[in-house]
Amino acid sequence: MSNPNPGLYVHAPFCPRRCPYCDFYSIGDLSKIPLWLEALEREVSHQAPYWTYVFDTLYLGGGSPSVLEPEHLATVKDVLGPLKISPKAEITLEANPEDVSEEKVTAWVKLGVNRLSLGVQSFQDKALSGPLGRGHRVGDVIKAMEIVNKAKLSWSLDLIFGWPGQSDLDWLNDLELAVDSGAGHISTYVLTTAPGSALANSYASGELIPVAEAEIADMFLKAGVYLRKYGFERYEVSNFARKGAYSHHNLKYWRRDNYLGLGPSAHSFDGARRMANASSVDKWAEALAQGRTALDLIEDITPEQALMESLMLRLRLAEGAPLKWIKDSERAEQLARDGYLTKVGALWKPTEKGFLAADYLARELT
Ligand code: SF4
Repeated sequence: MSNPNPGLYVHAPFCPRRCPYCDFYSIGDLSKIPLWLEALEREVSHQAPYWTYVFDTLYLGGGSPSVLEPEHLATVKDVLGPLKISPKAEITLEANPEDVSEEKVTAWVKLGVNRLSLGVQSFQDKALSGPLGRGHRVGDVIKAMEIVNKAKLSWSLDLIFGWPGQSDLDWLNDLELAVDSGAGHISTYVLTTAPGSALANSYASGELIPVAEAEIADMFLKAGVYLRKYGFERYEVSNFARKGAYSHHNLKYWRRDNYLGLGPSAHSFDGARRMANASSVDKWAEALAQGRTALDLIEDITPEQALMESLMLRLRLAEGAPLKWIKDSERAEQLARDGYLTKVGALWKPTEKGFLAADYLARELT
């Protein structure tokens, strides 16, 4: 663990509508918000005695925490009271563009939110209303960006690429608007399909044709070239930031720091054990009402596994992995000659080709 301060994640599992590609746990029934808040309070009481370090990041994710009313978020803040959260903590809230209003942003800032992650996904209505099936349109994005920039919040912008019908020009247009948006952080995710999702069914029926892997690889590399030209560093496979605008919370996952996850389906890691809450508000809340946790997963991590995980994760980060973590240095040297890695001091760092082939690198070197 490189940082003794853990991160704190709160999963707000509410989405009034379901995006066709999504595999996060969420429900549409907002009448369960009071049950969720009550159970959250119980979970905090249960966990507080075990998590005594000061949390220096808090991430309100989901689901869509932006659908919560400011009074719900004020309750969340009160409920987290027994946990020690640094007054300087990075506090991120995930927001859908259609939920952003001046009133909400003002309330979020008052509650201590100092970073937003805005789920823009695309600047094209044909993608938002088509394969991405989102609830917002470009007009909502423009309005949300104006409000967030006016509030002088630090913010991140999510883009999805590789959607059926997307041309090279479409992708470059999205990247250009992202660069001009005022966001200091840009995440670029390939459109993936969860098995059984509406999008997977559209692919299976032939209604939509998935984009070829070679085209996706090309878009991945083009994003690197374009965003670097405008001052964004790819610091993780899918994440770019201007200087200093990294997601400190997400870096905790990638550096294997400790984190506590609260809420249904949230994951925790205490350095030795990984745990996941049940992916059901009812099951999770019922267990807590009975004075216990509802865990779907408890995994003890062996020292060998820990090293392997650290190596896999570091090979996905620009900061790279220490040379001494890699047993097969011959293989690493060969991968460097093939253009996947570069040696910088005592570290192996991925090149753009290495980022693109991060899973291959992990397989070859662990
Ligand atoms: S808003 Fe996010 S969490 Fe909710 S359904 Fe869409 S992709 Fe999933």
